[in-house]
Amino acid sequence: SREWHLVARPHGWPKAEDFALREAPVTAPAEGRILVRNRYFSVDPYMRGRMNDVKSYTPPFKLDHPMDGGAVGEVVASNAEGFAVGDQVLHGLGWREYADVPAERAVKVDASLAPLSAYLGVLGMTGLTAYAGLFEVASFKEGDAVFVSGAAGAVGSQVGQLARIKGASRVIGSAGSDEKVKLLVEEYGFDAAFNYKNGPVAEQLREAAPDGIDVYFDNVGGEHLEAAISSFNVHGRATICGMIAQYNATEPAPGPRNLALVIGKRLRLQGMLVGDHAALQGKFVQEVAGWLASGELKYRETVVEGIENGFEAFLGLLRGENTGKMIVSLG
Ligand code: NDP
Repeated sequence: SREWHLVARPHGWPKAEDFALREAPVTAPAEGRILVRNRYFSVDPYMRGRMNDVKSYTPPFKLDHPMDGGAVGEVVASNAEGFAVGDQVLHGLGWREYADVPAERAVKVDASLAPLSAYLGVLGMTGLTAYAGLFEVASFKEGDAVFVSGAAGAVGSQVGQLARIKGASRVIGSAGSDEKVKLLVEEYGFDAAFNYKNGPVAEQLREAAPDGIDVYFDNVGGEHLEAAISSFNVHGRATICGMIAQYNATEPAPGPRNLALVIGKRLRLQGMLVGDHAALQGKFVQEVAGWLASGELKYRETVVEGIENGFEAFLGLLRGENTGKMIVSLG
């Protein structure tokens, strides 16, 4: 079985030499464990942080060990009660072809309800991030004008559509290509969208939201956050979900220059971690599955074929080569 190891800690943008695809033996599962043949694994922006040797909310990847992360696959051997050969499961040992998983860390999923890969995206971690970040963290309410950055990505595309479904007065998105911008308006029903590479974000946002915004869902940080602070109405609320614009930075990024506006506008800037919102899981799956079935909610995935392309898929995610959830398929 092949698995990806981190072999050196990247400085700035990750390089191919920082990673190695290595062979590992496949053994029968010990008591309380299952052997899973992974079908898909997830590559996610937070994994860049785990490549650094710093204390954070998730431990760093160990050098010369398999990397991990979300994965779905099929049980091929079971030494645990409650799991049988053929069960489809979601678990945390991605970046490898076969995973030896402790049974208590695996969750069965229903592949007849949604394609298996959906449990890594629209019905999985990124979906819950969108749902919890908008409804719980930003305290979204009907009539709010919502701006989301990274809007053609997994989290962002779902945030914008959830806001539309729940009665936002206006949904604005930003993304990194004209093609993505078109998708936001034509397929996902955003009211306005712009390509942040086409000009200053603050100007483009003011044009797209002439009456200001009430909620900002931040996936990007930097210039986007500063622009949102400028466009906020009083009592605006920002969910600080991600700051992908600075994940490969080698120096600390400067803060928004207009932070003093937080006072007069009485803004709330609230960080979030999806792991804190597990209690919403049931409600999230029920509601989102309903909107998928009715066609109100749409999603895309960018599926990269082959474990040998795992590193390229991760790099592609950081470069914006994905539309919707970036996933590696193991066939
Ligand atoms: P996406 O599917 O959104 O993929 C990442 C996207 O980021 C790319 O497609 C690219 O799109 C965009 N991007 C890359 N560099 C830049 C840049 N310099 N400026 C603006 N956009 C950029 O990933 P996810 O949906 O998985 O994650 C979105 C965000 O949410 C990330 O910041 C992630 O860290 C965060 N997150 C946080 C969680 C939490 O619990 N706090 C949980 C899950 C995700 P484009 O072409 O538009 O540039």
